[in-house]
Amino acid sequence: MPGVELVWKDIKSVIPLRRTCKEATALMVAREDRTLYWADRVALRLHLLACKACPRFERQMLITQNCLKQWREYTEPD
Ligand SMILES: [Zn+2]
Repeated sequence: MPGVELVWKDIKSVIPLRRTCKEATALMVAREDRTLYWADRVALRLHLLACKACPRFERQMLITQNCLKQWREYTEPD
């Protein structure tokens, strides 16, 4: 069946972009300090679409960053 062959070929071409949760979290942390390579950005996006835990970690990171930003900018009212 040619359709199945085509889909299988597409899956194989995506496998180099596959990242583990450990790699995905490392990329999210690295993203704070530097711009990720194009392939890493795509791989991270794909992982976040397919994974349940890593989007939670990403949300928690954003909340933490937001809290730290507010803390840094906080001044005592006179
Ligand atoms: Zn994950």
